[in-house]
Amino acid sequence: MHKDIKEILITEEQISAKCKELGKIIDKDYEGKEVLLVGLLKGSVPFMAELSKHLNSDVTFDYMNVSSYDGVESKTLVVKQDLKEDVTGKNILIVEDILDTGKTLYNVKEMLLKRRANSVKIVTMLDKAEGRVIDMKADYIGFTIPNAFVVGYGLDFNERYRQLPYVGILKEECYK
Ligand code: 5GP
Ligand code: MG
Ligand code: MG
Repeated sequence: MHKDIKEILITEEQISAKCKELGKIIDKDYEGKEVLLVGLLKGSVPFMAELSKHLNSDVTFDYMNVSSYDGVESKTLVVKQDLKEDVTGKNILIVEDILDTGKTLYNVKEMLLKRRANSVKIVTMLDKAEGRVIDMKADYIGFTIPNAFVVGYGLDFNERYRQLPYVGILKEECYK
């Protein structure tokens, strides 16, 4: 285990079993349809790679990098890197690492619907249900976790720890 990790919350084995399980359900829901996976950079990359191994539908990949800011207007979305694909008429499955306040996914979903996607659904590896400040639900959820700051499997603290093959909690001294 990495020296900065206090506790492993979800193991690599649990994540890969969950991806297999979610993949089966998603495959059934999208049977006979094309689906564009939209990964939110950078945190969703490992989860999207693992989940997509279990999708036998007609799948394509794209990515975008966005930030939600708390400001005067609490629903401000900044698109740092946009999609390469035109989403008009497409069935989109947004792939996210973690759903917390709900602002990011709310804004991204609205934006894709405005661009006339045919459908927009969300799959998130982790759901911090207690963190929610706006009403937002994912269509597919890997694991519901308590309100703690987690790293690993794509999730970072100051851009570090994304490479860890598990989801864990950092030691307190590493936040300094
Ligand atoms: P929200 O749902 O609050 O708009 O934003 C979710 C984003 O906040 C995630 O994509 C992630 O970047 C960040 N985030 C929320 N909770 C955590 C956490 O526990 N650990 C890490 N590393 N990032 C988090
Ligand atoms: Mg994210
Ligand atoms: Mg981050």
